[in-house]
Amino acid sequence: MSLTRIIRLFIIIMLLPVVSRAETDREFIVMIDPGHGGKDAGALGRRTNEKTVNLAVAKKLRKLIESDMKNARVEMTRDGDFFVPLKGRSEMANRKHADIFVSIHANSIDKKSPLHNTINGAAVYTLGLRKSDTNLSLAMRENEVIKLEPDYTTTYEGFDPSSAESYIAFEMMQLTNMDQSIALAEAVQNELVRTAGRKNNGVRQEPFWVLVGTTMPAILVELDFICNPAMEKFMASESGQQKLALAIFRGIERYRKNTVKSVDKASPTTSDIRKAERQTAQREIEADKKAATVEKKTRTDITPTKGQIIYKIQFLTSPTKLRNKDSRLKGLSPIDFYKDGGSFKYTYGTYRTQPDAASDLKKIKKRFPDAFIIRTRDGKRIK
Ligand SMILES: [Zn+2]
Repeated sequence: MSLTRIIRLFIIIMLLPVVSRAETDREFIVMIDPGHGGKDAGALGRRTNEKTVNLAVAKKLRKLIESDMKNARVEMTRDGDFFVPLKGRSEMANRKHADIFVSIHANSIDKKSPLHNTINGAAVYTLGLRKSDTNLSLAMRENEVIKLEPDYTTTYEGFDPSSAESYIAFEMMQLTNMDQSIALAEAVQNELVRTAGRKNNGVRQEPFWVLVGTTMPAILVELDFICNPAMEKFMASESGQQKLALAIFRGIERYRKNTVKSVDKASPTTSDIRKAERQTAQREIEADKKAATVEKKTRTDITPTKGQIIYKIQFLTSPTKLRNKDSRLKGLSPIDFYKDGGSFKYTYGTYRTQPDAASDLKKIKKRFPDAFIIRTRDGKRIK
């Protein structure tokens, strides 16, 4: 071995521990996002409101991290009572290179519900869409704030927080850091039960806009139900807020410890299983897409001659013309539209026969339950 090689090897060996130490000593940045603020009060209790509880717990959490968490730093999306747009919150986390994003909220259900005064429990959410989703009320309520932002249709690409159809677009979104987000959610949820004594409503997936576009593991914590007077009392009290903050703090600590260890873990964990499930789901989506392109090819062969009857699947009516990328179209292609009175009727496909259209209708109905087949001649619907 030549001298230069020995020297080089020596330098490499000397550097190794430094490199790995630098890695473990890297500052851990926690982005705390107290939900709502300013003109957006969030859910209302009898004596307080959601934005106030969220901020109080967030500030206590910041204090705990700053004093008791090793080599960690806190960033806040707001540290006072002011309005921050949903998209601005995740963008702030990305800009600050946060390691985790923790959005803090208080839950509530409709006044008309018989459970309004008794419902309770904490739940931690990651971004996602449950497959057979019919009850989106929580995500809808938390996303509703978008409407307080000027120009929200442009900022959120036509997303309508109160339309169930809009949420299907979430399926198409790339969900990054899913397994780590779930690990963080599980750790925090466990502590909300153990440390803060909350009823366990579990770790769940919901399409929350505030989590969309985050480039780090991200969770949304629903501390408890502010519509339940007893739970509100707990959340409004100093001691209750301290317990909730401590619970989140401990959850974060556990997550941080586990993610460092999990590198050499071999046995499958819940998140591994979920990951596998997601991969399967992803493969199904890919297969669907492939099938769609094949069908598209055969369909474009059809060039209707004058007077020929063509079948199409009508799936959406809009009072205005939609842009191609409008989320209400849910990425469907190839599409077409015709004008009918004052509205625009959107259609999918071009079929020679009714059975051809019917075989695709089933698929379209998954995304647009009200879709139906129409007959057209020379670009006009005939009845
Ligand atoms: Zn909220």
